[in-house]
Amino acid sequence: MTNTPDIIWTPAASTEDGARNARELFTRIFGGEAEGVWRAPGRVNIIGEHVDYNGGPCLPIALPHAAYVAVRPRPDRRVRLVSPQTVDAVDELDLDTVGPVGSAGAVKGWAAYLIGVAWALEQAGYGPLAGFDIALWSCVPLGAGLSSSAALECSTAVALDDLAGLGLAGSVDAPNKEGRGILVAASRRAENEIAGANTGGLDQSASMHCTRGHALVLDSRDMSVRQTPFDIAASGCELLVIDTRAPHQLVDGQYGQRRADCEAAATLLGVDLLVDVEDYEAAMATLAGEGAESGEAEEAERARLQARTRHVLSEIARTKAFIEILESAPLLSEEKLQVLGGLMNDSHDSLRDDYEVTVPELDVAVDVARARGAYGARMTGGGFGGSVIALVKIGQGEEIAQAVTAAFADHGFAQPHVFVATPADGAGRVE
Ligand code: ADP
Ligand code: MG
Repeated sequence: MTNTPDIIWTPAASTEDGARNARELFTRIFGGEAEGVWRAPGRVNIIGEHVDYNGGPCLPIALPHAAYVAVRPRPDRRVRLVSPQTVDAVDELDLDTVGPVGSAGAVKGWAAYLIGVAWALEQAGYGPLAGFDIALWSCVPLGAGLSSSAALECSTAVALDDLAGLGLAGSVDAPNKEGRGILVAASRRAENEIAGANTGGLDQSASMHCTRGHALVLDSRDMSVRQTPFDIAASGCELLVIDTRAPHQLVDGQYGQRRADCEAAATLLGVDLLVDVEDYEAAMATLAGEGAESGEAEEAERARLQARTRHVLSEIARTKAFIEILESAPLLSEEKLQVLGGLMNDSHDSLRDDYEVTVPELDVAVDVARARGAYGARMTGGGFGGSVIALVKIGQGEEIAQAVTAAFADHGFAQPHVFVATPADGAGRVE
């Protein structure tokens, strides 16, 4: 046994602190005052993983962890960007030369997520926009599966919307749902085409549409959303988030391969998206190639597509069941909590065995949380590192965090970071 280190808690900065940090950075680097500060949260997806690009349902909540941007428009088309990590080399770009990945105007690094939103808004007809100076401060952990990238895009989107007077976002208290859908699309295009990460729309929808105290029911088939109350504290529960800090490896390539597998399976099944499969057993038989002659390589390929499809279709069913139970009564009985936990457990096992996107750190954190009495635990986000969520009794989170910290030390893993998640506000203006 190694000596167990203390738990590292990483709670969110308060809105006031986050806004002040962005504002102070702005003034220090650019001089004068920013015109305003906007924030957009990271998220955890409670269930419905790797189904957004298959047209299925997801159930995210916004985190209190958010990106804050202090912004001032410019009289020209220049964009200057700074974050606490880049104060020595402020990025300078021009809205007239920005272009997609692979083009002459390709943007390197984190600036792509921000300026990409301006580019996408202009592509959608909301231009020309003024240039701007922007200072970013964020407490969403980077690359932890908690959507730090969408927080960057969505904070920039609501800022540009406000400064250009487009009126797409509305306010946090009176959101313009349709307008926010347009900002989601622009943020997603920024991520896909300018940053070059081919992700589905879950992250941006969560950051833009989530509301305090609620989970978001997102139908990825048509990107429609609705709010559902998420007050697990009333039922004696809390949601522990464990950022495993496992190094991301081959993330983009693996993610792309999963998407390609799903597309290949959908083609074999004659559907547009896997969500459209109506007969599960028949689909499995088709993918298994029953009755068809095939070589070893082809059989392995079919087995893989079958496993990927099994994950997607079973995850869609689990997510629907989870939402139904969540909405069945304001207070969740012990029995219902156990069913919800079981669905989370099955989700993780499916992501581990059929979708093959977990890593040892994720599996160990999940195993320890379950062994210590969590109702359920699963990885959240794209996988290959990132975070685990555990549904636990109030107060039990600390004991589980300690046990996971100890287990990670024993395994020689990096020390995990932990916090308890409560559903926070979506993107909007702070001051
Ligand atoms: P996730 O969204 O799960 O955190 P991604 O790989 O999608 O992981 O996004 C992480 C990327 O977002 C980082 O590599 C960086 O380019 C950018 N990013 C996120 N937060 C910040 C920040 N505070 N400062 C600069 N860049 C950031
Ligand atoms: Mg991301």
